Amino acid sequence: MKAIAKTSAAPGAEVIETPIPEVGESELLVRVGACGVCGSDLHIVDWELGANRMVSRIPFVLGHEPAGEVVELGIGVNGFKVGDRVALDPFGHCGRCGPCRAGRFHLCASPTTLSGAFAEFTIAPIGNAHLVPPTMDMEQAALLEMFGTGLHAVEQSCLMPGDSAVIEGPGPIGLSIALSARALGVTSLVITGLAQDTTRLELARTMGFKTVTTGAPDWIEQVRAMMPADGADVVFDASGAIDSPRELLRRGGQLIEVGWPARDVTSAELRALFFHGVNIINSRVRTPETWRRAIAMVSSGAIDLRPMITHRYGISRGLEAFTLLRERRGVKALIIPE
Ligand SMILES: [Zn+2]
Ligand SMILES: [Zn+2]
Repeated sequence: MKAIAKTSAAPGAEVIETPIPEVGESELLVRVGACGVCGSDLHIVDWELGANRMVSRIPFVLGHEPAGEVVELGIGVNGFKVGDRVALDPFGHCGRCGPCRAGRFHLCASPTTLSGAFAEFTIAPIGNAHLVPPTMDMEQAALLEMFGTGLHAVEQSCLMPGDSAVIEGPGPIGLSIALSARALGVTSLVITGLAQDTTRLELARTMGFKTVTTGAPDWIEQVRAMMPADGADVVFDASGAIDSPRELLRRGGQLIEVGWPARDVTSAELRALFFHGVNIINSRVRTPETWRRAIAMVSSGAIDLRPMITHRYGISRGLEAFTLLRERRGVKALIIPE
């Protein structure tokens, strides 16, 4: 089968021909219908921001946001059958480590993983697979992992209906946070982005969100004007770069880190947050409960993820998706095996 793989510990990736992986115990063989391209894939392709922790896995097939159809069951599989539609999480859980024993499956110390899904087929341990209704299209199903990351950040926050939030970063995770917060009833909501994020900010506005471009001398005042007088209840950093959250947050508010941190935070910034009584929360991935909620929100029609899909590529042209992402064009690209 054709696949996009990381073949060396240096920037780059390539399209390869590789055997269809063999299904093992408690695993599913899934024919990939669509797989989202994620900002973290770009970090791995460009071999930056700590991607070298994956060096021992090289060569490996990239892609971790797939949805598809179950085509073969390993021994010991219950609860799935051939023909089921599934959305896959790149992280399952071992069930034995400390966090798993405490029911905090998303923090599992040795999570089960997929075989890589920018490919025609992928292997998923059953703990990584989530059934979706047969009526859900593959493209939306492939966006559930991404949407779940945003939804989980909102689940971790103190937000209640009528509250306020600033979302830094108009990428797919920022937009997923915005959709989740709006569905929850958050009434003051603004998404910020850089000048080079123009197309993403435009899309955010067509989805009905208010936006502010950072960098203009008065951007903080512009955001504050859209928030309650004492500041936002929550700032979500979905850009990896903390942008003046103290000025945006109310005293005792929350700063929720969602992106891979992309710059060093100075002790002066941390002191400012400390004296402002800000709670800093790191939100990674999503829980099985998040998956249940995400599937219900999308399959009921309460949330429509399709406006976020701006580009589609077959595997053979898939490397173009990384150029797109690097140039901050488009919002969400999908790899759809040809
Ligand atoms: Zn991802
Ligand atoms: Zn575990």
